[in-house]
Amino acid sequence: THELRVQAVSQVTDRQPLPVKVPQRLEALWATDVFTLSKMQASLPKDVYKSVKSTIQTGGKLDVSIAGTVAAAMKDWAIAKGALYYAHVFYPMTNATAEKHDGFISVQSDGSVLTEFTGKVLVQGEPDGSSFPNGGLRSTFEARGYTAWDVTSPAYVMETDNGVTLCIPTVFISWTGEALDKKTPLLRSNAAMNKAATRMLEILGHSNVAPVNSSCGAEQEYFLVDAHFAHSRPDLLLAGRTLFGKPAAKGQQFDDHYFGAIPDRVQVFMQDVEERMYRLGIPAKTRHNEVAPGQFELAPFFEAANVASDHQQLTMTLLKCTAKKHGFVCLLHEKPFAGINGSGKHVNWSVGNATQGNLLDPGDTPHANMQFLLFCGAVIRGVHKYGPLLRAVVATASNDHRLGANEAPPAIISVYLGTQLEQVFNQISKGETTSSAHAGVMELGVDTLPVFPKDPGDRNRTSPFAFTGNRFEFRAVGSGQSVSGPLVAMNTILTDSLTWIADELESEMAKGHDLTTAIHTVLKEVMDKHGAVVFGGNGYSEEWHKMAVEERGLANLRTTADALPVLKADYIEELFERVGVLSAVELESRFEVYAEQYILAIEVEAKLMVSMAKTTIYPAAMRYHSELSTTIANAQAIGIGLSKESAEKVAMLIGTMMDKISKLDGAMGKHDFASIEEHMQYCAKTIRPMMDELRKDADALEGEVADDFWPLPTYQEMLFVK
Ligand code: ADP
Ligand code: MG
Repeated sequence: THELRVQAVSQVTDRQPLPVKVPQRLEALWATDVFTLSKMQASLPKDVYKSVKSTIQTGGKLDVSIAGTVAAAMKDWAIAKGALYYAHVFYPMTNATAEKHDGFISVQSDGSVLTEFTGKVLVQGEPDGSSFPNGGLRSTFEARGYTAWDVTSPAYVMETDNGVTLCIPTVFISWTGEALDKKTPLLRSNAAMNKAATRMLEILGHSNVAPVNSSCGAEQEYFLVDAHFAHSRPDLLLAGRTLFGKPAAKGQQFDDHYFGAIPDRVQVFMQDVEERMYRLGIPAKTRHNEVAPGQFELAPFFEAANVASDHQQLTMTLLKCTAKKHGFVCLLHEKPFAGINGSGKHVNWSVGNATQGNLLDPGDTPHANMQFLLFCGAVIRGVHKYGPLLRAVVATASNDHRLGANEAPPAIISVYLGTQLEQVFNQISKGETTSSAHAGVMELGVDTLPVFPKDPGDRNRTSPFAFTGNRFEFRAVGSGQSVSGPLVAMNTILTDSLTWIADELESEMAKGHDLTTAIHTVLKEVMDKHGAVVFGGNGYSEEWHKMAVEERGLANLRTTADALPVLKADYIEELFERVGVLSAVELESRFEVYAEQYILAIEVEAKLMVSMAKTTIYPAAMRYHSELSTTIANAQAIGIGLSKESAEKVAMLIGTMMDKISKLDGAMGKHDFASIEEHMQYCAKTIRPMMDELRKDADALEGEVADDFWPLPTYQEMLFVK
């Protein structure tokens, strides 16, 4: 088996990058595979086009009677692009993207065929999605799930080796309207936020406010490993991470990979991904090497949250399938390799509209500052009040390896504002007047606040939730996760806070105070009650972890088992019901699905560890031990005493490893749990530590056993041979 490793190294060394394609002009590529508004304009009757456009741009109600006309135009366009099939694409609660393909074919009574795509099938589909986890929802209501056309996210054609398919983004719901997916709550949360934000803008004196939308730009980190290596690592293939592996002598300590020259093979791969993204209308914008060897990042230009979320799912799909073409495996796991950085997804988020622009942009006029401070204050209140929710929406078995480990954001949710903004909010909370360098004594009425630079010079990389100039950046999101959950949570807590602030402002003004005074009073109250969540120091430090919990009363939910039950807490159910984003039943079904996924992920890993340790590592160690012992005995026979130290160490490690295997195996036999919460805790507190223990011995053996006996590609090979 060591042969396979040697072969892999030589094959990887000889591998040539795919030839560099001459890049096409961006204008020639852009959105060629998307059924864009301009394509609709060219192919639809004027009134139909106008109706669709109004639904897309201003959230007007979809006029279903036009569906047939749109479907026909869409079909013609897709067929001209080579499509024979169409698919309703939806996003089940598993973080995956799902699609069911149907042919355009329609058989006539005389046996001939036509291509057909009616309005009815564009608008609604009925995939047999009964195998998707639904947290008991469909057994409670009905067995079937429906997909329904989301007009606000454009249809596109997807080209794979198997042909071209017209893809239609859809929501996935039960027949009674319960959300079974990740898109429905995102659309609902955006609508709720629009309402609350519009009300706030009207209180501030704006009229004819354009619809407010949330925006998202998600930075995606990922690892590339050569397929020759990945294919001989069952753990990478089945669990997406290495369950065993001794860290290489060199890791990331020299920072020599970070922002370094991108290796040729990777560069060609990236260009290929970007070309496909451009064709699909996804605005890829930055690419670079990340901190860990073999780790990279890709970020698009931001878009409306709903579209960005669909595009993010597509991006993950493109990364994985393009990697295959280039002889790589793309790992989106949050911690594929121990001892070096893991991968996250930084979700940049803001809210804004066509009339007021970005509402989290401090701007440079006092009036805009006032508006900004209200929206920013609303976020601060939300993160403080619902911090555990933000932790819960990023809770997965794989992200547990990252959150709270020393390089990723801690599991404690705090807000970083930057020195200047933090100072402003501190002053608000103290009701202080302050002197500015230029204008002498300045009253700290909100309308006289200083102008902030758009991009504060200081950047705090240790904060899970950071203000970055004109948006918030939620950094605790996992690299393989859908961004929808985090976006739903952020929109929802903002809606709740804006509504609360608006109520307070109105009641202050009813008492006869003017708007500026009312704003000052309310913002002070926000800071008095919620300022504890603002933290500008080192989020990784021990002192912070102590202070956050003991002095500031912030939650430190270390594991998914601790975090997920938050979704069932009364105050969270009330929040989602009040805002109209998820009913208690829907929320509970989400909890069930996520909890089950967590347990399954750990069970698969534990099983795989036992089998790899038994059938791969143990035999290699035994063979090596036997060779050592024979050599020592042979030497002894001719009167030479060789050191037995290594042989003894190997024997000892084999012994303890086998004990740990049977312990873990035994522990996995337990099935009588009083609740799913208890089962999760068992995984977190019993199974996971046993896995870590087992790994220790196996990795120690890797350090003892002769290299030509070791069956698994090593960290050194996987991370450094390119
Ligand atoms: P950094 O690594 O410094 O955080 P990047 O340029 O890699 O910066 O990523 C920043 C991301 O934030 C990009 O996707 C960008 O489009 C996005 N972004 C910028 N402005 C907004 C906004 N108003 N709303 C949402 N995302 C935004
Ligand atoms: Mg960032």
